[in-house]
This record gives sequence, C-alpha cells and structure tokens, in this order.
Amino acid sequence: MEEKKLKVLVVGGGGREHALVWKIAQSPLVEKIYCAPGNAGIGKIAHCISIGVTDLEGLSRFAEDHRIDLTVVGPELPLTLGIVDAFESRGLRTFGASQKASEIEGSKVFCKDLLKRYGIPSAAYEVFQERDEAAAYICTREGPTVVKADGLAAGKGVIVAQTQREALEALDRIMMAKEFGSAGDRVVIEECLTGEEASFLAFTDGETVLPMASSQDHKRIFDDDQGPNTGGMGAYSPAPVVDEKVHGRIVEGIMIPVIRGMAAEGRPYRGVLYAGLMISDGEPYVLEFNARFGDPEVQPILIRMKSDIVPILAACINGTLENMEIEWDRREAVCVVMSSPGYPGAYPKGYVIEGLEAAASMDDVVVFHAGTEMKGEKILTSGGRVLGVTALGQGISEAIERGYRAVEKIRWEGVHYRRDIGKRALDRLGG
Ligand code: AMP
Repeated sequence: MEEKKLKVLVVGGGGREHALVWKIAQSPLVEKIYCAPGNAGIGKIAHCISIGVTDLEGLSRFAEDHRIDLTVVGPELPLTLGIVDAFESRGLRTFGASQKASEIEGSKVFCKDLLKRYGIPSAAYEVFQERDEAAAYICTREGPTVVKADGLAAGKGVIVAQTQREALEALDRIMMAKEFGSAGDRVVIEECLTGEEASFLAFTDGETVLPMASSQDHKRIFDDDQGPNTGGMGAYSPAPVVDEKVHGRIVEGIMIPVIRGMAAEGRPYRGVLYAGLMISDGEPYVLEFNARFGDPEVQPILIRMKSDIVPILAACINGTLENMEIEWDRREAVCVVMSSPGYPGAYPKGYVIEGLEAAASMDDVVVFHAGTEMKGEKILTSGGRVLGVTALGQGISEAIERGYRAVEKIRWEGVHYRRDIGKRALDRLGG
C-alpha cells in the first residue's frame, strides 16, 4: 500500500462525508478522492460525481472504471441496500458494514433481539405486528413509553411518549397513517430510560474493536432539548459522561459482545459500529446501534483525530486492526449545525450563504458543508442541515466560544442554530 497511491471514493453528500473527505485528503497515501454525490464544500477538495447513493450499479461501475482502490460508505441507506456486498462481489475494497451486518441499524427488532440473546443491557421491550395488540399493551403501561418503527426512518421513527395517549398517537402515526412507510410494519414498544446520552463509535474488523473518542449529539431542534427530533443539531467530543470506568463497561460489556455475537450468527461486522447509549448511574444501556459514522458526531471526532485514517480503514477491511492505535488531540471539539428555516419540517432552498470564508479562515475552525450547492461563484443552501461549524479549543468552553464566533460570521435568510451546543458538557464539568 505504501508504494502505490490510492484512489478513494466516498459515498454520500452530507456533513459526515465532508468530514471524511477532509480527513482522507490529509493522508499521504492518497492520490485522488472522488465523492458521490458530494456538496459545495466537498467539491473544493474532491472530485464530485453526480451518482445517487442508492444507485449501486452506477456507483460500482464508476468504481471499476476509475480503478478505485478504496470506497468509504457514509449513509445507512446504501449499506442496508447491500452496497458493500455489491462492491465486494466485483473485487472492490470497501469500508462499511455488509447488508447482513447493517441489519443492526436497519431493523430495531433484529437489534433488540440480538441484545437480548447476548445479555447486553438495553431497555425492556415488546414487538408487535398488529396495531390492536400494540395498543392493548400500551394501555397496560404507566408513565413514559418509547414507540419505535422497526425500519429506517431518518432518525424520526422514534417517539418518546410521556402519556398513554401520546403513545397511542405515535402508534397510529407509525402503523395506521404509515408515516414511515413499511418501516412501520412492526413496532418496538420499550421502557423509557433516564440518564445522560452519549455516542460511542468504534472501528472494527470483525474481531478487534478500536474505539474512537466519545461524543454526544443534540437531537432536538431548539435549545434546552425542546421541539422535534432532527438528524442532529450539534455535537461535542469527548463526552465527559463517558469516564474511564464507563468506557471500559461500554467496550467490554457492549461493543465486544456485539461484534462476537454478530460473527457467531454469520453476520461478521466490519466497518464502524455506533452505539447510541443512555448512561444511567454509571451503567451504559444501548438505545440503538448505527452501522455507520454518526452525523454530526463524526465532525468533532475527526477534527480531533491525529492519526492517518486511511490505514485504519484499510485494516478494518484486511482484518488487521489488532495492531492499530489512534492518537487523539487532547483538546475538546464542538460542532454547531446551522440549518434551514423550517427544518426538520419542510424548508426553502436556494438562499445565498454569506461569510463562509471569514469563518473558515479562523484557526482551529473547519466549516463542514452538508446541504450546500455551488451556483456560479455563489454557495447556496440545498438541504435541511446546511453546515456543521466545528472548532477545537483548550477546554470545552473555549471550543464553544470559538465555534460560535465562527457561526456568527455566517448568514443566510432565516438561518437557524441552537445556542446551547456543548452546554451539557460544561454543566457536568462545573462550568
Ligand atoms: P434511537 O433512534 O433509537 O436512538 O432513538 C432516538 C432518540 O430517542 C434517542 O437518542 C433517545 O433520545 C430517545 N430514546 C430512544 N429509546 C429510548 C429509551 N428506551 N428511553 C429513553 N429515550 C429513548
């Protein structure tokens, strides 16, 4: 690998993929990076190609024709559609979970049953295929209940209901109105856990688990965790709730047993395993697994990663992760997501973004693009989440202060962002 420089393809076009392309571009092992479909920010450091993330045939033909040495898959949808299997069947080296492995994210029922089989801590639950049986069960429960559509629903298929009535309404949205389509053919109804959430991402080659720095995201649209869930409005790394003891329990009690369990069940897991966790009195419980890098968590994580990411991605594919280590910047990082007015509902597109250069030229700040596109010389909004402004700082408060200084340089009509990203970490650390 040291001899020949690599051609890399990154699949996706959001903030996660911009962060991946930005990190991969720093590798001395890489000659050229393509991104499908990419965005305006990615276009400045990679060659964007307009192939959609679900066009597996088009993508694999492109990779073959351009002799791509390494493909890195960002979003969950192509993973669950089997992009890694399709690429591997053509002899293309691909970083990501196979279709059978990514079921851990694609089906919440599969995930919960797996956790139960291996005795991994998670909320108590029941699964229903019939709306009336689910409704009858909800009526036996007291207090908050969590109702989850089984399949992929862009992070919106989970409803934390405070009352029976809210839980029944959620059930009807999922199973009757079919708001999430066939993802709602089955529901998981589970106990509501309390505590503090954290995200824990790890690289794995199917045997070895190599953790990334811990992180925490902010899912709700408004400050103080108000309003509906989004894809994520900001994140920071590390998450102080994941202290050394909790870290050990996550690795030994959750990540390693899951990787072993998946291998034992004929679903060897290679790629990134992302655990969404609730830390309750120092004990981690699994809320969900994702089969890919978290967005926006990956943005503060990768800005802190000092090691070259390319040998790690390759080791996950080769089964040689055992010998790898990751060096982390000891500083803290914060990512503030700037979104379109109306998001996570309907939103307008095409507003001119101003102030990008002033923000991006600040030291220890990277402005990752999500929903942006170039029109002539201008950069326009083109998605719900538009930018992930990411900053490093000596301590979380410096990272927050620097991140928001960069955010304030950027404007477009109706821009929205939360003003309290990182506040939970500050509170925990005592300000
Ligand atoms: P998920 O997609 O399963 O991670 O759920 C999305 C969000 O819903 C999580 O980040 C939590 O905030 C919340 N959530 C999911 N399951 C539970 C649970 N059992 N108890 C409390 N909150 C939950």
